[in-house]
Parts: sequence; C-alpha cells; structure tokens
Amino acid sequence: MTGCAGCQMEFLRLEDELLDLLKNVEISYFVMAKRVNLEGPYDAAFIEGSISTPRELNELRELREKSKILIAFGDCACTGCIPSILNWVPPAVSAKVYEDFSAIHSKKESFQRIIPLKEFVKVDIELRGCPPHKNLILEVVKSALIQRKPFLRIHPVCIECKLKENVCLLTFEGRPCMGPVTAAGCGALCPSLNRICEGCYGPMSDANAKSLAETFLNKCGLSKDDIARKFRKYSGLTSALFEEANKSYEY
Ligand code: SF4
Ligand code: SF4
Repeated sequence: MTGCAGCQMEFLRLEDELLDLLKNVEISYFVMAKRVNLEGPYDAAFIEGSISTPRELNELRELREKSKILIAFGDCACTGCIPSILNWVPPAVSAKVYEDFSAIHSKKESFQRIIPLKEFVKVDIELRGCPPHKNLILEVVKSALIQRKPFLRIHPVCIECKLKENVCLLTFEGRPCMGPVTAAGCGALCPSLNRICEGCYGPMSDANAKSLAETFLNKCGLSKDDIARKFRKYSGLTSALFEEANKSYEY
C-alpha cells in the first residue's frame, strides 16, 4: 500500500532470529525478499502502508478475506503516518510543488487522501512505529504462533526514558518532546540520543494532548501552527491528536 517499505526492511533486520523463525513459519508472500510468492489464503497478513487509491482498497479487501489475522504493519497502516500530512495540504500548495499533475501517474487514480486500514476493514492487531522495532515484529509473530494477544506497550515513551535515567529534554531544557503522549516500544530511542521524540509510535492510551499543547505553547515557545504541525506529523488522524491539532490550524 502507500508507504516507504521501511517496515519491510525492519522485518529483514531480524537477521539473527530469521532462521529460527523460518523453522516455525512459512512466509508465503514477501515480494521484497522472495522470488516465488503465493496468493493465499494466509494465517496472518502483515499489511504495510495506508490506502490512497481504489486499487489499494480492492487489494486490502481481498487480503482481509484471505487472512485469518490481519496486522496493520507500521504507522502508515495504523494512523496514516507522514503521508497523512497530505490530508491537510491545500490544493494551492500542491499546485506550487507540482506544476503538471498529469505527469504523476499515482495522482490520477488517487483518492487525494491518505486513509488508515481500519477505516475499511477489521484490523486484528495494530503494530505501530515508523518502523516498528524488530522485537515488536517478533512479539507479534510469536504471539500468533501460540495464539495469544501480543504484548504491545500503550504507556508513554517517558516511562522508557525514565528507566534509562535520561535527563528530561522537555522539563529541563524546554524542548518540545512528544514523549508524554506517544506510545512506548522504541526504548526511548531519540531522547537517549539527545533528540526529542517526534511521536513516531503514535498516541499512547489516554494521551493528554491538550496538556502537552499548553506546555508547548507556554514553556517551549511554539506557535499554535507549530503545535498543529507536530501533532499532524505522524498521527493527526487519530482521535487523540486530531481535535487538538484542529483547534489551532487554519486548514
Ligand atoms: S525527554 Fe521526552 S520522552 Fe524523555 S521523559 Fe522527557 S518528555 Fe518524556
Ligand atoms: S523516541 Fe519517539 S520519535 Fe523516536 S523512535 Fe521512539 S517514538 Fe519514535
């Protein structure tokens, strides 16, 4: 579907575990990694990317029918991710970037919107992240094998950050870190490298976007437009961030 294929690359990063995995799992369809691919039915389908064309929508519906478990694989599939920024780009801005739309093949058949999978079909598991860490992919595969619910974190990145004993970039340095509203799973990768969290795992459960927006406004010096752009970077379509982002942006 519509995405960058980075989540598939993360699957291939399971280098050390892949051979053991293949003793228990048959990978039927993986064009990036296999010459011969099978058309299903499948026990589990990892679907990467969001829906932006009628062709993708038909494929998604077919895959849903063929698959016992459907996993929305990565942020594009779960929330629309970075491509979903398109949903707020006014036509006048697109026209400035692309003088001749007719030259863009995908544009001709596009919905002109980016839509997460769950808007169209039942999604059994949302595997968030841009991309999801390989250990989380492994967790989903193992849980499918033994037929239990995968353990995917819904608490904030801040918890992982604190466990690493990082100095808080938001509280102590006034930098606009998205950690307080973002689901854990990455091991607080960015704050551990002195970079603010950008929110790439999507919202945690119970994300308090209103409070974080006030902190960004009053303590980090962000404008309301800046805040809307931050909230829309990965997960602007989610109920947790949608309303707060819309409050302050003109489009
Ligand atoms: S640096 Fe960011 S992720 Fe870490 S505790 Fe502070 S707000 Fe949370
Ligand atoms: S710290 Fe935030 S932006 Fe960085 S990998 Fe984790 S969730 Fe993504």
